[in-house]
Formats: sequence, C-alpha cells, structure tokens
Amino acid sequence: MQTAEIQRRWLTFFGDRGHTVVPSASLVSDDPALLFTVAGMVPFIPYFTGVVPAPFPRATSVQKCIRTLDIEEVGKTTRHGTFFQMNGNFSFGDYFKEQAIAYAWELLTMSEADGGLGFAEKDLWVTVYEDDEEAIGFWKKVAGLPDERIQRLGRADNYWSTGLPGPAGPCSEIYFDRGPQYGPDGGPAVDDTRYIEIWNLVFMQYLITNVRSKIDFDIVGELPKKNIDTGMGMERVAFLKQGVDNMYEIDQVRPVLDLAARMSGRRYGAVHDDDVRMRVIADHVRSSLMLMTDGVSPSNEGRGYILRRLMRRVVRAMRLLGVDAPSFAELFDASRVAMREAYPEVEAEYERTSRLAMAEEEVFLRTLASGTTILDLAVADTKKAGAQSLSGDTAFLLHDTFGFPIDLTLEIADEAGLAVDRASFDTLMAEQRARAKADAKSKKAGLADLSVYSDFRALGETVFTGYDYLETESRIL
Ligand code: ATP
Ligand code: MG
Ligand code: MG
Ligand code: MG
Repeated sequence: MQTAEIQRRWLTFFGDRGHTVVPSASLVSDDPALLFTVAGMVPFIPYFTGVVPAPFPRATSVQKCIRTLDIEEVGKTTRHGTFFQMNGNFSFGDYFKEQAIAYAWELLTMSEADGGLGFAEKDLWVTVYEDDEEAIGFWKKVAGLPDERIQRLGRADNYWSTGLPGPAGPCSEIYFDRGPQYGPDGGPAVDDTRYIEIWNLVFMQYLITNVRSKIDFDIVGELPKKNIDTGMGMERVAFLKQGVDNMYEIDQVRPVLDLAARMSGRRYGAVHDDDVRMRVIADHVRSSLMLMTDGVSPSNEGRGYILRRLMRRVVRAMRLLGVDAPSFAELFDASRVAMREAYPEVEAEYERTSRLAMAEEEVFLRTLASGTTILDLAVADTKKAGAQSLSGDTAFLLHDTFGFPIDLTLEIADEAGLAVDRASFDTLMAEQRARAKADAKSKKAGLADLSVYSDFRALGETVFTGYDYLETESRIL
C-alpha cells in the first residue's frame, strides 16, 4: 500500500464521518513559541485553547511535521524521521473518548477491500493512562481487547499537556506487534522496537493549573467542552503495510537511500554504520527539501540554522560513505520525484530550492576542505601524545580561522574516539565575544567580516541557541 493510498484512505474515512478535510499547514508554524509544526494539532491550537471558536466541530488532516528533537534517533531506530506526516482527526467539543477509540479501531482493522488499513486485530496493543478506567472500558467494549493487551503507563508517557495552564488530558496509544523476531514479549510497556507506536489518541479532558513541569501540575476540573486530538504516523503505517523494515524504506524515502548507495558504490544492508548513514541521508534530504519548499533558507539562526545543520549532516554522511564530490543536485532531485505527487509545491518551487541546496553545499564543502586537514593533524597529534581530548585551542582555531563549526569538530573528534575540551573552548569563545564587543564599542560600528567563511563564524555561538529552540518543540504532544 503506497503512502499516497494510506493518505487517501485516511481522508476518505474521516471525511465520510463528518470531518472537514483541512489541507496541511506549512512546516513553518504560526505559533511563535514553535519553530516548526511538530504535530497535526498545531494549526488547531487556537480552537483547542478556545482563543478562537472552531469553525467546524470535527476536522481531519495529513500534516507535514518536523521534529528535530528526534534527530539523534534517525536511521538508528526504525521509526523516527526529522520530517514525517501525521494524520489526525480532531473533535472540538464534539465527539469524545468512546467515539475516538471506535474510529481508530475501525480504520485500523477494516479490511483493505473495504477501504480500511487491514491490520490484524491480534497484532494490536494499546496503552492507557494509569487511572483512565474509562478508556480501558471502551477498549474492551468497542474493540474487544483482552486485559493483557491493554497496558497502563504514567504521566511521562501517557498524559498530554502544553506545559502551560490550560487544557490537558490522558492519552491512549496504539501499537503494532511486529513479532517475536523483533524483541521480547511483554507489550509496548516493555519494548518499543518490536511493538511500534503508530497512533496516539489524546483525550483533552481537564483544565490544569500550577504547572511545575510537563508532568507535575494540579487539575482544576473537567473542561466544559472536551476535545479529541489524535496523531497517526503515516510513515510508520506505510512501512508496516509495505512489508519493509523501517520508515526510510518506504516509497517516499527509499529512492534517495538507493541513490546514496549507488553514488557511494556501497550496498545497503551490508554494513550497519553505512546503513545508518544512508538512512540519515534519505531522511535529511527529504526534510531539507520540504523545509526549503516551505520557504526556509539556510542561515545561522533559528529555522535556517536547523536546515543548515540537516544539510551539513547530509554532506558529512556522504563523505563518510566515501563521496567527496557535490551530490545535492542528484539527491534532491530523487527526493523531489518521490514527494511531488503528494506535494505539488515541491515541483513548483524546485528551481529555487535546488539552487539554494547546491549553493549551500558548495560553501560547506569549501569550509570542510580547509578545516579537515588541520583537524586531522590535531587528532593525530593528540593521539600520539596519549591524550583523551582535543584541546580547546584547536577547536577555537578551527572555529575562528577556518570557520569550522564546533558541532562538526565534536562529531569528527568523536569518530576518532576523542573528546573535545569544551570548557576551554567555551572560555576562548567568551573572551572573543568580550573582545569583539569592546572593539565594536570603541569603533562605534560593527566590523564587516568579508571572509568567505564569515557566515560560519557565528555558528559556534548559535549552536546551543539552536538546541534551546528545539526544546520548545516538545511543548506540544
Ligand atoms: P515515539 O514514542 O515513537 O517517539 P511519540 O510518542 O513521540 O512517538 P507522538 O508525539 O505521540 O509520538 O506523535 C503521534 C504519532 O506520530 C506517533 O504515534 C507516531 O506514529 C508518529 N511520530 C511521532 N514522531 C515521529 C517521528 N519522528 N517520525 C515519524 N513518525 C513519528
Ligand atoms: Mg517521540
Ligand atoms: Mg511515544
Ligand atoms: Mg505518542
């Protein structure tokens, strides 16, 4: 079942059941607290919080999402993309828990011939919030699930809130059991590799206050109008339905992976580390293409910095596969072809986005060429001296003179089995900032930096700003 077919079945199912079909919003979120759209519900936040009255009682969408919070998981787990599509059905004070459970069960287990997703009932497990007896009751009543396939989890796993006073409520997640060859028995509470989370149902039921953390708050009472927010991972359903091992092997992603394999002359499935790199390339190329299509350009801060980091990781992964030559022209083109049916805007914007991608690659390859030689020498010297970590001086020199971003230095050092003296690097950076400030003050103007690497100079300072931004992504879902 192709991804486009899953999308069609989803929208038809909920459309037929009175849901207004809402097109995907941009990856660039309207919510100022979020860098990106991280979940299907993001465009509907004003309706859920009651700031704006919902124009329809129920809605459904297939939403483009970016979660860079999951970046370290990409290619290592089977199920985490930085870009993915979340299929949602939403009720704004209309239907609630029983109906949401009934819809999910019906769509998952209805036969393919009847328009459903055709999962076998025996392969599905659910988790519920520990004291949500109501949900347990409905899972038994509606789905006939036996006790042993309904597991209770605590707030950290199965409670949704924005982390702010307002609506909150218990969740119930649906998992697919891939079978004993993938891990131990015992259900999703025990293992998340064998039991793959495919769908999260959020029952927005309570008003919370005194929010001390995402899991520590006081419940004021029941919401007058209870809401439903659900999210099903379309790539996860696609890889399970397509009989492949992971989400990077689905129809919308695999062509880029295969191309990376061909370009490097290495076979996918032969060496684990190479496989991870090919999956990272396929994922990040798609994310970058989709971000640029939605108007993000590589830069040194905010959204643009995250895009830049994704693109650099592609370059790095290609080099680790032995490809030093420019490769974005081909990789992005393969992703364009795989994504254009679902997102015609990818085609419409391609002249602009491909130009951007190739320019970004060219600058980064130049940066890499100059810095790598220095770094290789420093790594060799450090090892010869029997030290465990690269000096802060070296990291600073690379940053300051060669425009080499610290995250890259960390990554390359790590591959060589070395740490980096981060504390001394940070001190040198702070001293440099203080000097620059004093300098700018005395000259009453900022100094123009005309070096070809000037755009990378600022990166060391914004790396962690990037991650601070990322933290806010976890605020939703
Ligand atoms: P996981 O525990 O596997 O990281 P999650 O609990 O963080 O998933 P939710 O926030 O509940 O995910 O999102 C709703 C659904 O979106 C999930 O059930 C899953 O199917 C899908 N999903 C979430 N994150 C990703 C991702 N990074 N890549 C692909 N699909 C995802
Ligand atoms: Mg997650
Ligand atoms: Mg989860
Ligand atoms: Mg979840």
